[in-house]
Amino acid sequence: MPKRKAVTNDEPDESDLSPPPQGLLDAVPPSSITLAPDDLLIKEAPRKRRKVKQSNDGRSDKEEVVPARKRRTEKSQIKVELAVEVEVEGEGEGEGKGEGEVEVVDTVKVKTKRKSKVDKERELVEMPLAARTVGHKLIIGAHVSAAGGVHKAIPNSVHIGANAFALFLKSQRKWENPPLLDTHTTAFHAHCKTHSYDQTNHIVPHGSYLVNLAHTDKTRTAQAYAAFLDDLKRCERLGISLYNFHPGNDQNNDRPKALAHLASNLNRAHAETKTVITLLETMAHGGNTLGSTFADLRSIIDLVHDKSRVGVCIDICHIFAAGYDLRSPSAFRETMDEFDRVVGFKYLKAMHLNDSKAPLGSFKDLHANIGTGFIGLRGFRHIANEPRLAGIPWVLETPIEVRDADGVVVKDKKGKVLEDRGIWAREIKLVEGLVGMDTEGEAFGGLEDELARRGGPERARLLEQIERVKEKKEKMKKGKRKGARRKGEEDEGGGRSGESSPLSDLGDEVSV
Ligand SMILES: [Zn+2]
Ligand SMILES: [Zn+2]
Repeated sequence: MPKRKAVTNDEPDESDLSPPPQGLLDAVPPSSITLAPDDLLIKEAPRKRRKVKQSNDGRSDKEEVVPARKRRTEKSQIKVELAVEVEVEGEGEGEGKGEGEVEVVDTVKVKTKRKSKVDKERELVEMPLAARTVGHKLIIGAHVSAAGGVHKAIPNSVHIGANAFALFLKSQRKWENPPLLDTHTTAFHAHCKTHSYDQTNHIVPHGSYLVNLAHTDKTRTAQAYAAFLDDLKRCERLGISLYNFHPGNDQNNDRPKALAHLASNLNRAHAETKTVITLLETMAHGGNTLGSTFADLRSIIDLVHDKSRVGVCIDICHIFAAGYDLRSPSAFRETMDEFDRVVGFKYLKAMHLNDSKAPLGSFKDLHANIGTGFIGLRGFRHIANEPRLAGIPWVLETPIEVRDADGVVVKDKKGKVLEDRGIWAREIKLVEGLVGMDTEGEAFGGLEDELARRGGPERARLLEQIERVKEKKEKMKKGKRKGARRKGEEDEGGGRSGESSPLSDLGDEVSV
């Protein structure tokens, strides 16, 4: 690997392998992980203070803005925090140099020695943002970064107190990727053993966004299939049993053909591998996106020969956006019963745990922090207490950007959005705490109200956007009737049609 200049650790490291939220290490002390409303989820933007950072190669000091965290002034606390924040990335594994020395000149100046990646990894494990809950019936984690290699996902998962996790096995944005290294594979197995992650039930890699196994074009199919099969083989080398992917799109307005094509690719892939179970993810978009109805999933499963090799990953945000309600006890039961009737719980192997910034039936894929979206904390209380959903890995894919009191994202001087992985640590504890929680009690009511309040600006923004798009659509319809429709304005990208297309030009959507 070529030597790199020392960089600050808030720069992404091999970002192709990072999950959608990427960023700096966080050092929120474990003591802040409580169920008190003030400590949950999106913390208001902290007061900023400056610190001076000095790299050990004698170059000039760098200055950057860092969150003030809680206003603790004990020097020991500051030392610990700064030790994490100012660490400078080493230039290779095994280049261990001992602990970075931190000398607190005053509360804002600090000198440090470079830390190796090994030290960095050890700190993630030894100074977690929250301790992992032992013996809980829910197995909850997040989609963590695998920047630097798949084995890096494990310390990142321990760091947030997760008992399950998702990761990308290679870049989700590139077709060509280097092979899985033996050293990474060995480290992955060793880390799983050390930290008691069961590779058959705690880890659910996420497939590439580029792959569309339903594409019937020959060349495109070959490319997608090769990338997919390569991922499954990586899973098997890593001892991983579950693999989650997006079912894809129907490109030719022939849904049955697309579903059959997808199933035939799955059958091929199953024949070329031995153990890994391929999980169809439920999707938010309607139109020609496959997997937005339970019936789609059933159709695919029906066509898969080896039923022991196919399963489903329910994304809570996606099914809600696709029209399956989860909010009232009766609506939740109805949705669960429908899933059981159409698909069957025996196929449910994993869940993505996300609230939704967009309302029911909006066909929008916009993840919100738990309790802050249109599903709300009550919906997640139903989920946490549903026995048919327990015992499988639940993975948070919620936003971790820091927002201020008005819900506006906080950026550093360079314009980079600040991230806080403590959000995941707190959400894991939040959801674990919902088991058996009395919805009539004061604790629940307080949490519910506070989280709903924090998500208010984003929900209002989305409703406004949706309203604007509807109006635009109405105008276009009128214009169309007059023969004045602008050419090419609709169906851009050939990806969507039907109900979902009116909203598809909302700019901030990312499908995950
Ligand atoms: Zn999504
Ligand atoms: Zn996904």
